[in-house]
Amino acid sequence: MRRRNFIASAVMATVSGGIAAQSTARPNIVFIMADDHAAQAISCYGSWLAQIAPTPNIDRIAKEGTRFNNVFCTNAICGPSRAAILTGKFSHINGFYKNEGGGDFDGSQQTFPKLLQAAGYQTAVIGKWHLGTAPTGFDYSKVLFNGNGQGSYWNPEFQLNGKEIVKETQFHSTRQIANDAIQWLKTGRDKTKPFMLMYQFKAPHRIWDPDPAYQNLFANIEIPEPETFNDSYVGRKAAADQWQSIEHNLNPLDLKQTPPPELKGEALQQWLHQGNNNEFWTPDPKLKGQALKKWKYQRYIKDYLRCVRGVDDAVGRMLDYLDQSGLADNTLVIYTSDQGFYLGEHGWFDKRFMYEESFRMPFLMRWPGRIKSGTVNNDLQMNIDFAPTLLEAAGVPIPGDIQGKSFATGASKRNSVYYHYYEFPFWHHVQPHYGVRTERYKLIHFYYSMDEWELFDLKKDPNELKNLIHDPEYAAVVKKMKAELKAQRQAYGDTMSPKQMRAMTDARIERVYKEE
Ligand code: CA
Repeated sequence: MRRRNFIASAVMATVSGGIAAQSTARPNIVFIMADDHAAQAISCYGSWLAQIAPTPNIDRIAKEGTRFNNVFCTNAICGPSRAAILTGKFSHINGFYKNEGGGDFDGSQQTFPKLLQAAGYQTAVIGKWHLGTAPTGFDYSKVLFNGNGQGSYWNPEFQLNGKEIVKETQFHSTRQIANDAIQWLKTGRDKTKPFMLMYQFKAPHRIWDPDPAYQNLFANIEIPEPETFNDSYVGRKAAADQWQSIEHNLNPLDLKQTPPPELKGEALQQWLHQGNNNEFWTPDPKLKGQALKKWKYQRYIKDYLRCVRGVDDAVGRMLDYLDQSGLADNTLVIYTSDQGFYLGEHGWFDKRFMYEESFRMPFLMRWPGRIKSGTVNNDLQMNIDFAPTLLEAAGVPIPGDIQGKSFATGASKRNSVYYHYYEFPFWHHVQPHYGVRTERYKLIHFYYSMDEWELFDLKKDPNELKNLIHDPEYAAVVKKMKAELKAQRQAYGDTMSPKQMRAMTDARIERVYKEE
């Protein structure tokens, strides 16, 4: 059996099984999403970190299900990715382009939780939401509220069912969200209905503040640096232009530095955030250049991986609970992240670029009896495919206006995936760009305050260091990829002129939603 058919055959069995079969066989869904969790920090993806920072619990989902290797986001920042997941539509259709100055998500529009709810599912969302407006389409919601919806690692505030605000002071946010998800399964569920639970961690988002339980993890070891740690950005103007470098843009707060005691108020904030605007900062005037970069990397990557360990343990608790409660056999479990992240590759942290590390989303799915254990899927898929995939798994018709395709019956036939990022200059001065990726090639156009094209041959240059756009040997590929890009832009209705796209970036849409 071909890989892509595992789900297809399962879904088809459900769909063709008729109403009686559907009422007993509809799977429960546990959709687990972390924030900024790169595939490189999940050991089953086999990166240079796999041995040193294993994630055995998350890996268990792949071991008992499928690891998807080529799932990509359509706009690599928190809110826009989440909006694309919920709607199955690109940012220019669902209206949520940017985190900064992008307004709020229009919760009155169609989303997959609403469709599942209407089809008889009990729905819940717990943890990070980050879309401004209160969740719609959920029977229960408890979402992070403070920090403009980012939440905080400690003393996080949650909005309950779109109404009151609850401050949780006992646990680290990862533990709190894990506790709440299991608690809802224990006591919040209507056992006469199938359920769809989304629970979404804040971790391992900046400022990578782990639970003290993991403080000594990696204490006496040096985490190896990735191959492209000292990328020189030759031939890639936008890559050279960003403000998300380990060396220059990690700030004292990220690096958990103690500020001078006399600093207060604005002065304290300025001290903590040195680097955000490319200001130079070092803890010691003698520490500079490569030595400073290496020092900052160790501080950063260890805290990031400690946060990941917390998430991995929390996932283990959920999998154990599903086993103990007898739910595991009829529950489809997904583990993903809203987008990838740079763990020192190209000398960076953060995301945004269409380069592989942030473009790729980890995606693991377990569905006992329906998906064969330990399988791997290499089809080109996107976050807009999640909604139709879950609808199809639940036997719910997929509305025609959803732009994604179900993993089971549509996405596998795709030749390319399309991407468009808009936010600038916040937070990391990454040029807005769009692009297309096929199995082998990637074409990117940076259009905001530069007009730069990049072409990569992912087979020969998986780290995307050599821009081939002016290489005569690739002229035919460039032509073909430009045609593919044009076709994708038209197919998805993303046909704004560069001027209109720049206006989208420049627009400052006020948030309706405000903290108290
Ligand atoms: Ca994110």
